[in-house]
Amino acid sequence: MCKGKTSNPIFMKVKKFMIVGCPSCENLQLTASKNAMKCKYCRKITSINKLKVFYSSNSHKDALKTLYQMKEGSYRDLNRQL
Ligand SMILES: [Zn+2]
Repeated sequence: MCKGKTSNPIFMKVKKFMIVGCPSCENLQLTASKNAMKCKYCRKITSINKLKVFYSSNSHKDALKTLYQMKEGSYRDLNRQL
């Protein structure tokens, strides 16, 4: 691993594929980007370090499976504590 480049701590704990929630429309989606995420629902572009990462995995299959599970109901529990 190349040291010195990863100065942002968020990239040290999250893995390649992240489930993030769009701050604008609150839709969950999967991203592998390290810079910015373009929401596929409302097309808003948000930088990754401003997004809330709900889950991350190095396996795309794993992340996708979790995304579906979250959309089926558990996400509501996480997100409706306001
Ligand atoms: Zn959105």
